[in-house]
Amino acid sequence: MDGDIAPLHELVHIAQQHQSLLMIDDAHGFGVLGQKGAGSIEEAALTTDKVPILMGTLGKALGTSGAFVAGDTALIEYLIQFARPYIYTTASSPALACASLAALELLEQEAWRRQHLHALIQYFQSRAQHYALPVMPSRTPIQPIVIGDNAQTMRLAQALQVHGFLVGAIRPPTVPEGSARLRITLSAAHQPEHIDALLMTLQRLWKPQS
Ligand SMILES: *Cc1c(COP(=O)(O)O)cnc(C)c1O
Repeated sequence: MDGDIAPLHELVHIAQQHQSLLMIDDAHGFGVLGQKGAGSIEEAALTTDKVPILMGTLGKALGTSGAFVAGDTALIEYLIQFARPYIYTTASSPALACASLAALELLEQEAWRRQHLHALIQYFQSRAQHYALPVMPSRTPIQPIVIGDNAQTMRLAQALQVHGFLVGAIRPPTVPEGSARLRITLSAAHQPEHIDALLMTLQRLWKPQS
């Protein structure tokens, strides 16, 4: 919810201490983090021996749908033979598989999309400070702004939408009571002008208390 990144090395350490298999759900990291866009695992320089089960979705950075589990051959064979939700679910259609493959090729070949996105994230953080908007220290595309009150958060999200900005409103129980927030999600399709327009509009609509 906050665009923060799990302390992966600590989790690896705890899993090893307890002789447990670590599974990472990298739905938000895959396609976004790491030099090659391979995700949190790449960024943290971890491999299969440290993270035996990696799952990710094709429905976020890749823009299609479906998901994957990655691991060593024994794990994958086991899932193919015994994972009931996998066995009893229709496979991806050929069209979807082609679209996902094309997205993977873009991910490999067009690193500029990731670089652009990370430049936007930095730009967002610095402009938010300029507008005195209390953003969290997130270095990922999820940029939450805690508003507090549920109704006010909903009103702000609706007002932003009227002005052409689609921003999620996240309320309890998804987040702790009294910490309703706007969840701004940046993408490689955005431009710095969009960020300025959003922050200016938000500043006009809402003045933080402090
Ligand atoms: C979005 C998300 C999922 C689900 O992805 P789908 O593509 O909708 O199945 C799973 N885990 C996490 C952490 C997510 O953010």
